[in-house]
Amino acid sequence: MSIIKYELFFDVDWQNSHYTCREKLFLDRPEELTLDAVGMKIRGVEVDGSARPFSYDGKLLKLGNVSSRAEIEFERDVPEELMGFYRAPYDGGYIMTTHFEPDGARLMFPCQDEPSKKARFKLNVKVDPDLDVISNMPPARVEEGEGKKSVEFQETPPMSTYLLYLGIGKFDQLEDSLGDTKLYVAAFSGKSKRGRFALEVAKKALKAYSEYFGIPYQLPKLHLIAVPEFAMGAMENWGAITFRETALLADEKSGETARRGVATTIVHELAHQWFGDLVTMKWWDDLWLNESFATYLSYKVVDGIFPEWQVMSEFLSSETSGSLLVDSLSSTHPIHVEVRNETEAEQIFDAISYGKGASVLRMIESYMGEEEFKKGLSDFLKRFSYSNATASDLWDALEKASGKPVSKIMSAWVNKAGHPVIAIAGSGSSVALSQRGFRFLGNWTDSWPVPLVYVSDGDLYSTLLEKDSAIRVGKSFKLNADGAGYYRVLYQDWGRALSACRNAYDQWNVISDMYAHLLQGVVGIDQYLGAISGFSGTEDALLSQEISSQLGMLYAVVPDAVREASASWHRSQVDLWQGKENAGYMVGRLARRLVLVDREYGVSLSSKDYWSVPPDLRQASALAKAVWSSKPFQELRELYSKADEEDRTRLLHGMMAIRRPDDFRRALDFLLTKDVRKQDLRQVVAAANNVHNRKVAWDWFKANFPLLRKVFSSSGVLPGLISSLIPYVGIGSESDVSKFFEENDIPEAIMGIRVALELLQVYSRLNRALETGPSP
Ligand SMILES: [Zn+2]
Repeated sequence: MSIIKYELFFDVDWQNSHYTCREKLFLDRPEELTLDAVGMKIRGVEVDGSARPFSYDGKLLKLGNVSSRAEIEFERDVPEELMGFYRAPYDGGYIMTTHFEPDGARLMFPCQDEPSKKARFKLNVKVDPDLDVISNMPPARVEEGEGKKSVEFQETPPMSTYLLYLGIGKFDQLEDSLGDTKLYVAAFSGKSKRGRFALEVAKKALKAYSEYFGIPYQLPKLHLIAVPEFAMGAMENWGAITFRETALLADEKSGETARRGVATTIVHELAHQWFGDLVTMKWWDDLWLNESFATYLSYKVVDGIFPEWQVMSEFLSSETSGSLLVDSLSSTHPIHVEVRNETEAEQIFDAISYGKGASVLRMIESYMGEEEFKKGLSDFLKRFSYSNATASDLWDALEKASGKPVSKIMSAWVNKAGHPVIAIAGSGSSVALSQRGFRFLGNWTDSWPVPLVYVSDGDLYSTLLEKDSAIRVGKSFKLNADGAGYYRVLYQDWGRALSACRNAYDQWNVISDMYAHLLQGVVGIDQYLGAISGFSGTEDALLSQEISSQLGMLYAVVPDAVREASASWHRSQVDLWQGKENAGYMVGRLARRLVLVDREYGVSLSSKDYWSVPPDLRQASALAKAVWSSKPFQELRELYSKADEEDRTRLLHGMMAIRRPDDFRRALDFLLTKDVRKQDLRQVVAAANNVHNRKVAWDWFKANFPLLRKVFSSSGVLPGLISSLIPYVGIGSESDVSKFFEENDIPEAIMGIRVALELLQVYSRLNRALETGPSP
């Protein structure tokens, strides 16, 4: 420790987007003090009561030796960017808001901007009297004077700089409370009335976490704040969580798809109030600890609040399947990754930190037992409250709670990149199991301690598989019961494995392994399509979602080879779910894929009035218009002008599917106009599915890359954008793609670029093998 407290006196010039600040620092011991501070004008420094010369290079402010306190006067502009303290415009106004993770606090005030440098913060903010101010803590005092009001906030408990929050603007609020904790939804433009659902969810989740962890929520209040321009989906600032508008505001008119998204996001951010805010990782290399837990626990808690949604299906088909895909590349990274600086930290907000970490936690929980897992977590959080911890602190707690070798297993899974494939040899009552590393482009020799649970003649058996060995099995058997283990299995007889399945989790697991081996080139497309056609009548949400997303991905890569199969599979699924009650969410998901491949269905949906279509079906409606309407851009553009943010997002996503090249180009350019919020520029990733315009999309990406880069600078969005778009639109332009990324030095997205280039190789290989001749 050195700085134990910051006192910040901001005086904000609202009209000119500028502020001055007097900052006081208090130390608990003398230190040679260097502070992170970017883009400021430093007016003066006082150390231990007297003026002191300082050195400042625009990034670091060196104060020299400080024995107990320092005072800094500085000023800065509030830019229109998506990082630091920034101005976020909306129709008819703007707010000023902060987003600091990982390194934005230094853009607002000089500080020791590292997660382990926890301190107390006391904010005092002077603004025009008609503006509202929100921070982590409730106001202690509000005073009017000199034509301005000053709001003094209560002091925070010790916390990391990246979790500090300040929001200024004309907010309107909804209010509720849970015990002594006040809950608010705050929004701009009078939109908070759409926050009732969010408030209900937050209340239930706060209660659920307090009980699960055995620790109450620690601050006197909690704000959920809608922000008009926001790079991420949401951010867990302690007591003042920020959201992209559509991730917070949803009502009856929004449909279940939107409400699910809102609930999952809120519950994820609430998990961070304990896991991340109360106990924080020591350094960014353990970021995954925050994100994996928030991801895994949020599904558990949403499942408790809305059991009818069966969100564990969603967990498997998006978090587990999604991360396994990236983890099958040699460009993957270990869950625990070395992070030398903040530019590297920005890039690890990816599927490995969130999805793989969360899936590995599910594996260890199923190995330890649910109660032991919960006890270990609770002990860990109690022990490290208001301070920092590493992953090994957590393994120790879990090991103690369960008496099982958690540290050994987890350190292998967390520190090693990739995951194993277990191959089965022999077909009698004894089969040989051998493991190696799984990759789309070639396997490699390696092994993991695998907590193996398998099904044999309907019964469960478990063992810890550390090296190649043989097991005795009955007539029917499959490995990886419930798909709880994070590994692949290569069966000689896929039919035998499918027939041994006891439930949909088992079936999902076999189908998922088969799909991975299809991408690897070991399973043929006919064999794969034959197997999934057996599930065209499935009434299970998990299987339906998984197969639909596999077919969706395959369509984006090898449209000709799967068009027919995808059309007939999705047609029977849409018919089936349409006949059920409360299945709007499933129908909507399936219809989005069906409109791309089924002319009759697509034309019929595209001719319907967009506003008369139920909200869960509107994304499909926008896509149908894009693909099948005669004037797609004009039509979607007109709808856009009358839409709120929720429908605007759907319409932009739809535009990315436009088939006519000229119209598609206009749609891409439209993303760059003032009519589209900067945050929504990321909708361009939906162009990944536009198999008719890969080249157009790639050329546009190249031409506008400098702009994309600027908009998303240091927000961590760029690597994900590149890795989601380029593997698809790059098909057919492979050498040009490699050349572009060789010629441009883009350190802030290097991990995303590596993933993109390798996945492009995997998809190009499949495309060359299966597509005959150029696409029509
Ligand atoms: Zn998170």
